[in-house]
Amino acid sequence: MLKANPSSPVQSDDFIRLVHGGGGSFSKRLLEEVFLPAFRNPALDALNDSAIVEVPAGPLAYTTDSFVVDPLFFPGGDIGRLAVCGTVNDLAVVGARPVALTAGFILEEGLALDDLKRVIRSMKTAADEAGVRIVAGDTKVVQRGKGDGIFISTSGIGVFEAGRRPVSGSGAKAGDAVVLSGPVGRHGLAVLLSRENLGLRNPPESDVAPLNGLVAALLEAVPGIHAMRDATRGGLGVVLNEIAAQSGVGIEIDETAVPVPENVRGACELLGFDPLYVANEGVLVAFAEAGRAEALAGVMRRTPSGAGAAIIGRVLEGQAGRVVLRTAIGSRRILDWISGEQLPRIC
Ligand code: MG
Repeated sequence: MLKANPSSPVQSDDFIRLVHGGGGSFSKRLLEEVFLPAFRNPALDALNDSAIVEVPAGPLAYTTDSFVVDPLFFPGGDIGRLAVCGTVNDLAVVGARPVALTAGFILEEGLALDDLKRVIRSMKTAADEAGVRIVAGDTKVVQRGKGDGIFISTSGIGVFEAGRRPVSGSGAKAGDAVVLSGPVGRHGLAVLLSRENLGLRNPPESDVAPLNGLVAALLEAVPGIHAMRDATRGGLGVVLNEIAAQSGVGIEIDETAVPVPENVRGACELLGFDPLYVANEGVLVAFAEAGRAEALAGVMRRTPSGAGAAIIGRVLEGQAGRVVLRTAIGSRRILDWISGEQLPRIC
Protein backbone atom coordinates (compact mmCIF):
# COMPACT_ATOMS: atom_id res chain seq x y z
CA MET A 1 0.00 0.00 0.00
CA LEU A 2 2.84 2.37 0.78
CA LYS A 3 4.98 1.69 -2.26
CA ALA A 4 3.99 1.92 -5.89
CA ASN A 5 1.87 -1.13 -6.53
CA PRO A 6 3.58 -3.17 -9.30
CA SER A 7 0.33 -4.73 -10.47
CA SER A 8 -1.74 -1.56 -10.36
CA PRO A 9 -3.58 -0.55 -13.52
CA VAL A 10 -1.79 2.65 -14.49
CA GLN A 11 -4.83 3.79 -16.48
CA SER A 12 -6.85 3.96 -13.26
CA ASP A 13 -7.72 7.31 -11.69
CA ASP A 14 -6.55 5.93 -8.35
CA PHE A 15 -2.85 5.96 -9.24
CA ILE A 16 -0.30 8.50 -10.39
CA ARG A 17 0.45 8.25 -14.11
CA LEU A 18 3.23 9.76 -16.19
CA VAL A 19 0.70 12.21 -17.69
CA HIS A 20 0.21 13.74 -14.23
CA GLY A 21 3.68 15.26 -14.63
CA GLY A 22 3.22 16.35 -18.23
CA GLY A 23 1.86 19.82 -17.64
CA GLY A 24 -1.40 19.10 -19.50
CA SER A 25 -4.95 18.47 -18.35
CA PHE A 26 -3.94 15.65 -15.95
CA SER A 27 -1.41 17.92 -14.24
CA LYS A 28 -4.06 20.62 -14.03
CA ARG A 29 -6.54 18.23 -12.41
CA LEU A 30 -3.96 17.03 -9.89
CA LEU A 31 -3.22 20.65 -9.02
CA GLU A 32 -6.87 21.65 -8.78
CA GLU A 33 -8.12 18.56 -6.96
CA VAL A 34 -5.23 17.73 -4.65
CA PHE A 35 -2.68 20.50 -4.09
CA LEU A 36 -4.66 23.76 -4.26
CA PRO A 37 -7.56 22.73 -1.97
CA ALA A 38 -5.07 21.50 0.65
CA PHE A 39 -2.63 24.40 0.72
CA ARG A 40 -4.98 27.29 -0.23
CA ASN A 41 -3.50 30.76 0.35
CA PRO A 42 -3.47 33.97 -1.72
CA ALA A 43 0.18 33.66 -2.84
CA LEU A 44 -0.38 30.10 -4.12
CA ASP A 45 -3.89 30.69 -5.49
CA ALA A 46 -2.60 33.48 -7.74
CA LEU A 47 -1.04 30.66 -9.83
CA ASN A 48 1.77 32.82 -11.16
CA ASP A 49 5.20 31.51 -12.13
CA SER A 50 6.53 32.77 -8.80
CA ALA A 51 4.69 33.37 -5.56
CA ILE A 52 4.86 36.94 -4.32
CA VAL A 53 5.59 37.19 -0.58
CA GLU A 54 5.78 40.42 1.42
CA VAL A 55 8.73 40.47 3.83
CA PRO A 56 10.01 43.25 6.10
CA ALA A 57 13.34 44.89 5.32
CA GLY A 58 16.39 43.21 6.86
CA PRO A 59 18.17 39.88 6.65
CA LEU A 60 16.32 36.90 5.18
CA ALA A 61 16.93 33.28 6.25
CA TYR A 62 16.70 30.95 3.26
CA THR A 63 17.15 27.18 3.38
CA THR A 64 16.44 24.00 1.41
CA ASP A 65 16.27 20.28 2.12
CA SER A 66 15.29 17.05 0.34
CA PHE A 67 13.35 14.15 1.82
CA VAL A 68 13.66 10.53 0.69
CA VAL A 69 12.54 8.73 3.85
CA ASP A 70 11.68 5.04 3.52
CA PRO A 71 8.94 4.09 4.37
CA LEU A 72 6.75 7.09 3.50
CA PHE A 73 4.64 6.58 6.65
CA PHE A 74 6.09 5.68 10.06
CA PRO A 75 4.94 5.87 13.69
CA GLY A 76 4.63 9.53 14.65
CA GLY A 77 4.87 10.99 11.15
CA ASP A 78 5.36 10.68 7.42
CA ILE A 79 7.41 12.20 4.60
CA GLY A 80 5.06 15.20 4.36
CA ARG A 81 5.31 16.20 8.02
CA LEU A 82 9.07 15.66 7.85
CA ALA A 83 9.42 17.86 4.73
CA VAL A 84 7.63 20.77 6.41
CA CYS A 85 9.18 20.43 9.88
CA GLY A 86 12.73 19.90 8.59
CA THR A 87 12.73 23.19 6.73
CA VAL A 88 10.77 25.09 9.40
CA ASN A 89 13.28 23.94 12.02
CA ASP A 90 16.32 24.96 9.98
CA LEU A 91 14.82 28.45 9.77
CA ALA A 92 13.88 28.48 13.47
CA VAL A 93 17.31 27.54 14.83
CA VAL A 94 18.98 30.53 13.18
CA GLY A 95 16.44 32.66 15.02
CA ALA A 96 14.16 33.35 12.04
CA ARG A 97 10.37 33.30 11.96
CA PRO A 98 9.39 30.96 9.09
CA VAL A 99 7.17 32.78 6.60
CA ALA A 100 6.77 30.70 3.45
CA LEU A 101 7.78 27.32 2.05
CA THR A 102 7.91 25.90 -1.45
CA ALA A 103 7.64 22.18 -2.20
CA GLY A 104 8.88 20.12 -5.15
CA PHE A 105 7.44 16.62 -5.56
CA ILE A 106 8.97 13.76 -7.53
CA LEU A 107 6.31 11.07 -7.79
CA GLU A 108 6.75 7.53 -9.06
CA GLU A 109 4.30 6.25 -11.65
CA GLY A 110 1.86 3.87 -9.93
CA LEU A 111 1.83 5.71 -6.59
CA ALA A 112 -1.61 5.43 -5.00
CA LEU A 113 -3.39 8.77 -5.21
CA ASP A 114 -4.69 8.18 -1.67
CA ASP A 115 -1.12 7.99 -0.38
CA LEU A 116 -0.28 11.29 -2.07
CA LYS A 117 -3.41 12.90 -0.58
CA ARG A 118 -2.50 11.61 2.87
CA VAL A 119 1.00 13.12 2.57
CA ILE A 120 -0.43 16.44 1.36
CA ARG A 121 -2.90 16.58 4.27
CA SER A 122 -0.07 15.89 6.66
CA MET A 123 2.01 18.72 5.15
CA LYS A 124 -0.93 21.08 5.58
CA THR A 125 -1.39 20.05 9.23
CA ALA A 126 2.32 20.57 9.97
CA ALA A 127 2.34 23.91 8.13
CA ASP A 128 -0.66 25.07 10.17
CA GLU A 129 1.05 24.00 13.41
CA ALA A 130 4.09 26.04 12.39
CA GLY A 131 2.01 28.98 11.14
CA VAL A 132 3.72 28.89 7.75
CA ARG A 133 2.24 28.86 4.23
CA ILE A 134 3.21 26.67 1.29
CA VAL A 135 3.20 29.25 -1.50
CA ALA A 136 4.63 27.48 -4.54
CA GLY A 137 5.26 23.96 -5.74
CA ASP A 138 6.10 21.69 -8.61
CA THR A 139 5.30 18.09 -9.48
CA LYS A 140 7.20 15.73 -11.75
CA VAL A 141 6.46 12.05 -12.38
CA VAL A 142 9.14 9.45 -13.14
CA GLN A 143 8.56 5.97 -14.61
CA ARG A 144 7.76 3.04 -12.39
CA GLY A 145 10.97 1.75 -10.78
CA LYS A 146 12.84 5.05 -11.28
CA GLY A 147 11.70 6.56 -7.98
CA ASP A 148 10.45 5.26 -4.65
CA GLY A 149 6.89 6.50 -4.24
CA ILE A 150 7.46 10.12 -3.28
CA PHE A 151 10.51 12.35 -2.93
CA ILE A 152 9.95 15.90 -1.67
CA SER A 153 12.20 18.96 -1.64
CA THR A 154 11.17 21.95 0.44
CA SER A 155 12.73 25.40 0.57
CA GLY A 156 11.77 28.10 3.01
CA ILE A 157 12.29 31.73 3.88
CA GLY A 158 12.21 33.28 7.32
CA VAL A 159 12.48 36.79 8.69
CA PHE A 160 13.90 38.27 11.88
CA GLU A 161 11.79 40.19 14.37
CA ALA A 162 12.80 43.84 14.71
CA GLY A 163 16.10 44.21 16.52
CA ARG A 164 16.93 40.47 16.50
CA ARG A 165 20.19 39.17 15.12
CA PRO A 166 20.56 35.79 13.39
CA VAL A 167 21.80 33.02 15.71
CA SER A 168 24.84 31.15 14.38
CA GLY A 169 26.44 27.80 15.14
CA SER A 170 29.70 29.66 15.76
CA GLY A 171 28.64 31.64 18.83
CA ALA A 172 29.13 29.15 21.69
CA LYS A 173 31.52 30.51 24.37
CA ALA A 174 33.53 29.01 27.22
CA GLY A 175 31.34 28.99 30.34
CA ASP A 176 28.11 28.45 28.37
CA ALA A 177 25.63 25.78 29.40
CA VAL A 178 24.32 23.26 26.87
CA VAL A 179 20.54 22.89 27.01
CA LEU A 180 18.73 20.10 25.15
CA SER A 181 15.03 20.56 24.34
CA GLY A 182 13.92 16.94 24.70
CA PRO A 183 14.73 13.22 24.71
CA VAL A 184 16.91 11.88 21.88
CA GLY A 185 16.83 8.97 19.46
CA ARG A 186 13.16 8.62 18.64
CA HIS A 187 12.93 9.60 14.97
CA GLY A 188 15.74 7.46 13.56
CA LEU A 189 14.56 4.37 15.41
CA ALA A 190 10.88 4.93 14.55
CA VAL A 191 11.75 4.92 10.85
CA LEU A 192 14.22 2.04 11.04
CA LEU A 193 11.89 -0.16 13.08
CA SER A 194 8.94 0.46 10.77
CA ARG A 195 11.15 -0.49 7.81
CA GLU A 196 12.65 -3.61 9.32
CA ASN A 197 9.60 -4.79 11.27
CA LEU A 198 11.52 -6.41 14.13
CA GLY A 199 8.32 -6.91 16.08
CA LEU A 200 9.43 -4.92 19.13
CA ARG A 201 6.79 -4.20 21.72
CA ASN A 202 6.28 -0.48 22.37
CA PRO A 203 8.56 0.82 19.57
CA PRO A 204 9.55 4.54 19.66
CA GLU A 205 7.46 7.07 17.74
CA SER A 206 9.12 9.84 15.75
CA ASP A 207 9.44 13.20 17.50
CA VAL A 208 8.99 15.10 14.20
CA ALA A 209 7.52 18.51 15.07
CA PRO A 210 7.92 22.19 14.23
CA LEU A 211 10.23 23.90 16.74
CA ASN A 212 9.60 27.50 15.73
CA GLY A 213 7.12 28.06 18.58
CA LEU A 214 9.66 26.81 21.10
CA VAL A 215 12.40 28.99 19.58
CA ALA A 216 10.16 32.08 19.51
CA ALA A 217 9.40 31.58 23.21
CA LEU A 218 13.12 31.22 23.97
CA LEU A 219 14.14 34.33 22.06
CA GLU A 220 11.35 36.31 23.69
CA ALA A 221 12.12 35.24 27.25
CA VAL A 222 15.87 34.68 27.39
CA PRO A 223 18.30 37.17 25.88
CA GLY A 224 21.81 36.14 24.93
CA ILE A 225 21.38 32.76 23.24
CA HIS A 226 24.81 32.21 21.71
CA ALA A 227 24.18 29.23 19.41
CA MET A 228 21.40 26.81 18.44
CA ARG A 229 20.99 23.78 16.18
CA ASP A 230 18.42 21.06 15.63
CA ALA A 231 19.89 17.61 16.29
CA THR A 232 18.87 15.90 13.04
CA ARG A 233 21.10 13.63 10.93
CA GLY A 234 23.95 12.22 13.01
CA GLY A 235 22.00 12.99 16.18
CA LEU A 236 23.16 14.95 19.21
CA GLY A 237 26.73 13.59 18.92
CA VAL A 238 27.35 15.04 15.46
CA VAL A 239 25.59 18.35 16.16
CA LEU A 240 27.73 18.94 19.26
CA ASN A 241 30.85 18.25 17.19
CA GLU A 242 29.64 20.71 14.54
CA ILE A 243 29.11 23.46 17.12
CA ALA A 244 32.43 22.70 18.87
CA ALA A 245 34.28 22.97 15.54
CA GLN A 246 32.37 26.03 14.29
CA SER A 247 32.70 27.90 17.59
CA GLY A 248 36.27 26.77 18.28
CA VAL A 249 35.42 25.51 21.77
CA GLY A 250 35.38 22.26 23.75
CA ILE A 251 32.11 20.77 25.01
CA GLU A 252 31.60 18.44 27.97
CA ILE A 253 28.35 16.47 28.26
CA ASP A 254 27.08 14.54 31.29
CA GLU A 255 25.85 11.20 29.98
CA THR A 256 23.32 10.76 32.78
CA ALA A 257 21.79 14.19 32.06
CA VAL A 258 20.86 13.34 28.46
CA PRO A 259 17.24 12.11 28.39
CA VAL A 260 16.95 8.82 26.50
CA PRO A 261 13.48 7.19 26.50
CA GLU A 262 13.43 3.61 27.78
CA ASN A 263 12.16 2.19 24.47
CA VAL A 264 14.93 4.04 22.58
CA ARG A 265 17.56 2.67 24.95
CA GLY A 266 16.17 -0.85 24.59
CA ALA A 267 16.04 -0.73 20.78
CA CYS A 268 19.56 0.74 20.61
CA GLU A 269 20.95 -2.05 22.79
CA LEU A 270 19.28 -4.64 20.60
CA LEU A 271 20.53 -3.08 17.34
CA GLY A 272 23.96 -1.92 18.53
CA PHE A 273 23.29 1.81 18.06
CA ASP A 274 24.36 4.69 20.25
CA PRO A 275 21.26 6.84 20.96
CA LEU A 276 23.46 9.94 20.93
CA TYR A 277 24.01 9.41 17.19
CA VAL A 278 20.41 8.60 16.22
CA ALA A 279 18.57 11.35 14.31
CA ASN A 280 15.89 13.53 15.89
CA GLU A 281 13.38 15.74 14.07
CA GLY A 282 11.97 17.69 16.99
CA VAL A 283 14.95 18.34 19.30
CA LEU A 284 17.43 21.21 19.43
CA VAL A 285 20.45 22.21 21.50
CA ALA A 286 20.91 25.78 22.70
CA PHE A 287 23.99 27.45 24.16
CA ALA A 288 23.83 30.38 26.59
CA GLU A 289 25.64 31.71 29.65
CA ALA A 290 25.38 29.21 32.52
CA GLY A 291 23.35 31.70 34.57
CA ARG A 292 20.57 31.60 31.98
CA ALA A 293 20.44 27.81 31.62
CA GLU A 294 17.60 27.22 34.10
CA ALA A 295 15.49 29.94 32.52
CA LEU A 296 16.14 28.46 29.08
CA ALA A 297 15.14 24.94 30.15
CA GLY A 298 12.10 26.35 31.98
CA VAL A 299 10.81 28.14 28.87
CA MET A 300 11.36 25.01 26.77
CA ARG A 301 9.38 22.88 29.23
CA ARG A 302 6.34 25.11 28.84
CA THR A 303 6.14 24.29 25.09
CA PRO A 304 4.73 21.05 23.59
CA SER A 305 8.07 19.91 22.14
CA GLY A 306 10.18 20.94 25.11
CA ALA A 307 8.54 19.05 27.98
CA GLY A 308 11.65 16.88 28.41
CA ALA A 309 14.20 19.72 28.28
CA ALA A 310 17.43 19.25 30.27
CA ILE A 311 20.72 21.00 30.95
CA ILE A 312 23.21 18.44 29.69
CA GLY A 313 26.66 20.00 29.81
CA ARG A 314 28.99 22.96 29.47
CA VAL A 315 31.37 24.68 27.10
CA LEU A 316 35.04 24.53 28.07
CA GLU A 317 37.99 26.85 27.59
CA GLY A 318 40.49 25.50 25.04
CA GLN A 319 40.18 21.98 23.56
CA ALA A 320 38.70 23.55 20.42
CA GLY A 321 36.53 21.18 18.44
CA ARG A 322 36.54 18.48 21.09
CA VAL A 323 33.41 16.91 22.62
CA VAL A 324 33.83 14.84 25.76
CA LEU A 325 31.24 12.63 27.45
CA ARG A 326 31.42 12.27 31.21
CA THR A 327 29.96 8.81 31.80
CA ALA A 328 27.75 7.53 34.58
CA ILE A 329 30.76 6.06 36.42
CA GLY A 330 32.72 9.32 36.17
CA SER A 331 35.13 8.35 33.37
CA ARG A 332 35.55 10.51 30.26
CA ARG A 333 35.44 9.50 26.63
CA ILE A 334 35.60 11.43 23.40
CA LEU A 335 32.25 11.80 21.66
CA ASP A 336 33.59 11.74 18.12
CA TRP A 337 32.22 12.51 14.67
CA ILE A 338 30.49 9.41 13.47
CA SER A 339 32.00 7.93 10.31
CA GLY A 340 29.47 7.29 7.58
CA GLU A 341 25.72 7.02 7.99
CA GLN A 342 24.41 5.07 10.96
CA LEU A 343 20.94 4.76 9.42
CA PRO A 344 20.27 5.43 5.72
CA ARG A 345 17.17 7.16 4.35
CA ILE A 346 15.69 8.30 7.65
CA CYS A 347 14.84 11.78 6.35
MG1 MG B 1 19.42 21.70 10.89
